[in-house]
Order: sequence, then structure tokens, then C-alpha cells
Amino acid sequence: MENKKQPSPAQSALHKLGLVTPLDLALHIPFRYEDETQLVPLSKVRDGQVVQIEVTITHQEMLSKPRRQLKLEVSDGNQACTVRFFNAYPSMAKQLSPGTRVRLRGEVRGGMFGWTMMHPSVSRADAPLSKNLTPIYATTAALPQTYIRKAVLGGLSRAIELGQLEPTIDPTFEPSGMMSLKDALVFLHGPSPRADMRALEHRTHDAWVRLKADELLAQQLSQLKARNARAQTRAVQLKPKPQNEPDKGDASSSVVSALRAVLPFELTRAQTRVVREIEQDLFKSIPMHRLLQGDVGSGKTVVAALAAAQCVDAGWQCALMAPTEILAHQHFEKLFDWLQPCLSARGLKVAWLTGSQKKKDKLLALADIESGVAALVIGTHAVIQEQVIFKNLALAIIDEQHRFGVAQRLALRQKLAIDDPDLGTPGEGSSARSVEPHMLMMSATPIPRTLAMSYFADLDVSTLDELPPGRTPVVTKLLSDNRRSELIARIKDQLRLGQQVYWVCPLIEESESLDLTNATQTHLELQEALGSLAVPLLGSARPPDPSALEVHLRSHVQGDAGVDDVARPGAEDAAMESIEHFTQSARVQVGLLHSRMPEHEKKEVMQAFKSGALHVLVSTTVIEVGVDVPNASLMVIEHAERFGLSQLHQLRGRVGRGRAASACVLLYSLGEHGRLSDTAQARLKAMIQTQDGFEIAKRDLEIRGPGEFLGARQSGAALMRFADPLQDFFLLEWAQGLAPKLWEHDPQTAQAHLERWQSVRAEYLKA
Ligand code: ADP
Ligand code: MG
Repeated sequence: MENKKQPSPAQSALHKLGLVTPLDLALHIPFRYEDETQLVPLSKVRDGQVVQIEVTITHQEMLSKPRRQLKLEVSDGNQACTVRFFNAYPSMAKQLSPGTRVRLRGEVRGGMFGWTMMHPSVSRADAPLSKNLTPIYATTAALPQTYIRKAVLGGLSRAIELGQLEPTIDPTFEPSGMMSLKDALVFLHGPSPRADMRALEHRTHDAWVRLKADELLAQQLSQLKARNARAQTRAVQLKPKPQNEPDKGDASSSVVSALRAVLPFELTRAQTRVVREIEQDLFKSIPMHRLLQGDVGSGKTVVAALAAAQCVDAGWQCALMAPTEILAHQHFEKLFDWLQPCLSARGLKVAWLTGSQKKKDKLLALADIESGVAALVIGTHAVIQEQVIFKNLALAIIDEQHRFGVAQRLALRQKLAIDDPDLGTPGEGSSARSVEPHMLMMSATPIPRTLAMSYFADLDVSTLDELPPGRTPVVTKLLSDNRRSELIARIKDQLRLGQQVYWVCPLIEESESLDLTNATQTHLELQEALGSLAVPLLGSARPPDPSALEVHLRSHVQGDAGVDDVARPGAEDAAMESIEHFTQSARVQVGLLHSRMPEHEKKEVMQAFKSGALHVLVSTTVIEVGVDVPNASLMVIEHAERFGLSQLHQLRGRVGRGRAASACVLLYSLGEHGRLSDTAQARLKAMIQTQDGFEIAKRDLEIRGPGEFLGARQSGAALMRFADPLQDFFLLEWAQGLAPKLWEHDPQTAQAHLERWQSVRAEYLKA
């Protein structure tokens, strides 16, 4: 016997899935079921039916051609069936020797030579048949179904024993006829074969309604609790600085006016409106907690910059945090350009802080932050690390807020120096300890406003519902993967016009190393196909009047063709010649960007693409978040069918930022099944039909219905685990109505309900 019990690999795998407590396990709901309650004679099966049969193995053969496989002949006494296992282990052949009686479960196919079954699951023949449907759980390779099933059912019993599934809420407060949580879970982990499978699949079954209602209520309780707690705290009440006088370029005028003066554009009406909404919050003594949502490209950065300027004007520090270094650095460059000149006049700085920077630079930045010289601090989550000490942080801005965890957002809130005696206007009895910074969260995946308001009960919502003028709509085309050569011709057209191209490779389910291989391969292919092409020099080496060149070239290349009518052999040589004559040219350079590269390399590649030294950028989805390269006019998304709708829309938003006509090509491949799934079709269709981010968000919520489990990694985390706030809007409304009453009249119950669900997965609740 061992003294110290090491967790088995299966136990560690359970922990990795977040399945630790009995409640965790009980709430790990199966994603489908198998019917093992009956045995079907082969004489009764239909082609394509998934059935369980009980048979005797009559013959066994190991074949090496056309593929290595174990082939069995089996019989149920009346009819025979051929069974194949590819890549079978020798041990398997041993177990499945002729004469053995087994149960097989799988899809039967009828054909000229009788029934066949591929890779059925095998079980013992003598075991009693189960009375209920067999649950199949989401799991990992280290955790076989049988193991996780046992663990989950064990957890469920334990949770029942411990009384953890007893009702929290008085049934009179609930919609009538609600199933109890205990009954719901017992049912979901082993429904009767007569259960309404459709309702189960669509998550409309009473058992699901219970889970969703409880989850939504917990979410609302949690939001409300946060809002109430926030109402008890104080924020720094910023004092507005007069801005009506013209910018004098010195420290006497406001940073806001200086910023407005250097902006190369007018604010849109929507920007003006949300800037005002934010300003009004900043002048209040309750901490702002505001979500700024706006479609990709709607111009959130300048809104953030104005809020930061407002804060600096009042003599306070502002922090801006982005989820990736590329994105953070882009913000830094932009805000540095806009604000540093005017900050310099005041002896202040825009500071850059990230995990990957050199120690010396980091120490310098840290010192500036602590002394207050760094009025604006921009970076990744390095900004909230312990060693970062702000002198007087009053405003925290978080870009792409959904990519940060709750813990990170909390840490940022706690960064406010608490012992400063003259914080804002002290209220009665309030201690300095309860002072919090204002928070502005930005998101490019808008959700419908009414939904946002009821769902995020602890957030005020500002919406940019208008794009800056002068954008050319992006033409979106679907193209089958086997027409890549046409696409290459189209890419060449764009490159010759001096434009740049993104090529996005998909994440491959479950494997980051495959992502990389795939992207590397594509990179090589494109460099091969395009490397000899001569294109105009871009960036600083660009000829003085690029538009003249553009016009000249367009006349040679015969217009800007759609993807479907691309390859025009003669045009290529003509254009090439003309470029050689017209100006200096460069050879096409293709860059590669993937998530496993060290940060500084990522930044270099991104910089090279921005500067025009790279013409094509092959990337895994790391560019998903807001990079801004206006000269890029073509976005190719490979295996577009694997991406979530919002993500496709985000990616498409990388082009169409400059003056050139832009296009987004969605390459799809039909894969093994020879067809796209219904949801994939719906997503691609939506991409072609609309470019409105709000419409996209609405459709995304509609499409992302039940059964899209694999999509989670691609489509971005779901808002909630069980409920879908759009589909379950009536439950959301119920929860929204009940939550405040519970906190007021029965806080103990409210707290108990919240704790039950919070212990499960807090991030899902807070959002
Ligand atoms: P997002 O909302 O996706 O973060 P950005 O802030 O990156 O969008 O803005 C996208 C582009 O639009 C940037 O190049 C930015 O400079 C430009 N932009 C922002 N506001 C305006 C405006 N009012 N007029 C013209 N261009 C603008
Ligand atoms: Mg942005």
C-alpha cells in the first residue's frame, strides 16, 4: 500500500475538466445519449440505423490492404454482418476471436454484400441490458467514457446524499410546474428510452428548463450583488477642465482639446454620444462600470483615448489593458502618437508595460507608474501584476473585455491607491478603502441592446451603432477549397495594386501543434506561388503618389474582378511589365504569425506587415483581435466552415479599413461527410447577407443553438453554460424580476442559491 495517494491520470484529467466536487460532477451534463436498452435483430434493422446487436463472431481476418484493419464476420443466428476496425491493436484481435459472443453498437449499412458495421463499440454479451439511455459525456483522451460516467454518476449520488440538490427557491416564486433540480439531474444523466429526445436535444425539456432557470437566476443575483456592492463604494470624481478655449499647445490647455486637435478625423455622431455618456459617469462619485460595445472598426479606440485624456486632465492616471501584446502595442502606438506630445509639455508620459519587455525598460515603466509620471499606462495583463503600483489610478479601460477573466478585472479594480487623503469628495462615513477606479470595458462582439441591458444587470451599456464614414463595404465571397488556384490569381491582382492580403488558417480541434503545421504549410505554399511576383514597394519606400500608380495599374489589370472571374492569363504579364517600368518594385514577401511564437517575434512580423515589408500575412487566429492595417484589402479565411459567426465577422473587419475596395473570401471544404452542417451553412449565409455587427450577433445567438459543443473553442466562449439568454429570454426576464426581490426579502436564500452556482463556475455568472 502506498502512503501518499497520487492522483491517477484519470483523476487529474477530471480535475483538468473542472470536475472536482460532487456538484461539479452532477452538473456535467451528457451531450448525447446512446440507446443500449434493447437488442435489435439484424432482420429488423434499417440501413443507416444506429443499433445494438448481439452476435457471435464467426470469422476473423487481419487485412493490410487497402488499409490495415481487423475484419470480422458475425452472426446473430439469422443474419450476418461484416465488421471492420481500422488500425486495430493485436490485443483486440485476441479478444474478438471466433466463437466469442459480443454486443456491438453502431451504425449498420446495407450493401450488395449484406450488412456492415464500422468501428462499433463493443461490450460483453452477458451483461443485463440497461433500463435507461446511456449518457455520453464530453471528455478528453485520458478519460474513457466508462470512467467519466462512473465518476459523474458517483458525484450525482453524493450530491444527493449531501442534500446539495435540495430546492433553494420557494416554488411559489417559480414558473409553475418546474421540475426539481434533483429530478432534473437524475433524469438528464439517464433518461428513459421513451423520453422526448427532441426536447432533450433542443434543451427545451423540463429538466433543462430547471437548469437554465437556476443558472440565469444565479447570474442575475450575482450581477445585482455586484451592483449593490459598487453602490457602496466611491470613485474618484473627476473634475472637468474647461475645453472651450483653443489648444495653445502648452500645459495650460486641456489634454482633451489637444487630442481633439490632432485627430485626423471628425468624431461620428455615435462617438460623440458615447464620449458624453462616459464623461458623465466620470464626473460622478460612483465608480463607472460601463460596457462600450461597437462593431469591429466602429472606432472604439478614440473613445478610449478621449476618456483617458479626460482622466489625465483631472490629474489622475489611466490604465488601458488589452488581451494580446499585438493589440496592446497597437493601442500604445496610436495613443502615444496622439497624446505624448501634449503630455510631454506637462512632464507626463504614456507608458508601455508587458510581460515580455526587457527588464530595464520594465523597471523604468514601473518607476514612472509609481511616481505618477506615467499618466497613461498601456499593456497586457502585466498591468495588473502585483509589482505594479499606481500613484493614483482613476480609470481602467479594458479592451476585448470578454477575453479577461473575472479575477483579472478584479485585480485591476484593486489597483487604486487607497491611502490618498484627498480622493474626490469624501462622503459621509465612507472610508478611503472603498474607493474604486472607474471601469470602461470595450467589446467588439455586440449583443442586442435589450439583451445586454437585462443580462448585464451590473453594467451600463454604451453602443457605437455607426461606422466612421468613407468605408467601402467588403465584398464577401464563398469559394470551395478546390478552387484555390483562382484565389491565387485574385491575390496576385491585389498585390500588384500595392494592396496587402491576410490569410487566416483555422484552429484545428484539440491540437495546437496541428494548427502550426497547417499554417506553416500554407505559408510555404503561398511563398512558392507568389514569391516571384513583382509588386510596388510599399510603406516608406512607396512612390510619392500611390493613387497614380493604382489608376495606372487598374487600367492594365482590367478592373477589380470578383473571385469567381479571376484568372486572366494575359493581364498578369502586362501588369508586371508596367510595374517594372513605372517604379521600383519588390518581390512578394509572405509572413507567418502563429500563437506559439514568442511575443517579440509576433510583434516584429506584425510590424513588418504594417510597414509594408510583408505583403501577405499567413496567420492562425491570433489576428482575430483588432489589428489595424488599412492597406490590407483581401482577407482569406481557410476552412471558414469551422469558425463561429462572430469570429468570421471579426476577421472580415480587418479589411475594408482603407480606401481600396476590399474583399473577404471564405474558403470552405466539405470534409468527410461531403456536406456542410446546417449551422455552418447558416453562418456562411449570414456572412454573405449582412455586414452589420448587431445583425450578425443576433444571428449568431440564433444559430448557436443546441448541439454546437465543438464550436466553443472557435466561436468564443458561450455566455452561459446551460442557458442561452436569447432563446431563453422569458426565463431571463423571470430571473431579472425575482433577483432584486430575493435580495431584499430573503437574502439568505439568495446567497445560498448564488453559492451553489458560484461554486460551480464563477466566470460564467459574472461575465
Ligand atoms: P474598433 O472599434 O474596432 O476598435 P478602431 O478604433 O481600431 O476600431 O478604429 C478603426 C479605424 O477607424 C481606425 O483606423 C481609426 O483611426 C478610424 N476611425 C475611428 N474613428 C473615426 C472617425 N470618426 N472617422 C474616420 N475614421 C475613424
Ligand atoms: Mg479595437
